[in-house]
Amino acid sequence: MIVLRSEREIRTIGECCRIVALVLSSVERWLRPGVTSGELEERIEALIERENGKAAFRGWHGFPGAVCISFNEEVVHGIPSDRTIADGDVVSIDVGVKKDGYFGDGARTFAVGSVSPEVLRLLAVTEAALMDGIGQARVGNRLSDISHAVQRCVERAGFSVVEKLTGHGIGTELWEDPPIPNFGPPGRGPKLKAGMVLAIEPMVNAGGPEVETLPDGWTCVTRDGSHSAHFEHTIVVTENGPRVLTADKRGT
Ligand code: MG
Repeated sequence: MIVLRSEREIRTIGECCRIVALVLSSVERWLRPGVTSGELEERIEALIERENGKAAFRGWHGFPGAVCISFNEEVVHGIPSDRTIADGDVVSIDVGVKKDGYFGDGARTFAVGSVSPEVLRLLAVTEAALMDGIGQARVGNRLSDISHAVQRCVERAGFSVVEKLTGHGIGTELWEDPPIPNFGPPGRGPKLKAGMVLAIEPMVNAGGPEVETLPDGWTCVTRDGSHSAHFEHTIVVTENGPRVLTADKRGT
């Protein structure tokens, strides 16, 4: 069942999402060669707590970190560690925040230093696919219109969507109905209604779509070792179109 959220609930989810956006814009300044992913995690968690939120991923299904930090061929669910960020890395940061019983979720892939033009194109296409998907989150559309728009943008560019992992509804749980695949024909699934809050999150591989999980039980990597990117926003469907709750209000 997909829950329709009240204005009051959307304000609280919006506050969680404001913190997510604050974290991601701060990370952009903190990401430098020589910093470890564990140090980033510490700063992120401290910032979330300063804003009176909780890092929602910590302990979620046993996840050992506060946020997910994934390098290069790692798609999602990387565990923060003493790995040092190097010039030329691309680093995906996925942040969930819980506050006052509600959740917000967002992710971005950052390029550190000199990254190849093809990998920069992968990042740009993944973000464009996210925005295309969000553009379909309109009252009267169907859920798979979002999925289809994401897939079309990605495949036109010659990249692959990860099919094993999906976006999701979000609200009083981090993961709620409906799952939101990043592929599929348009015009299928439930009709979108005002008050639906959705975390839309294309995961896109430069090579093939296949992924596998590392022996740590969490880190999801591309099978062919190609780079992967991940962009995510939490949005609410309104009568006036989609509203991005995790938008960076400072415009950076
Ligand atoms: Mg998510």
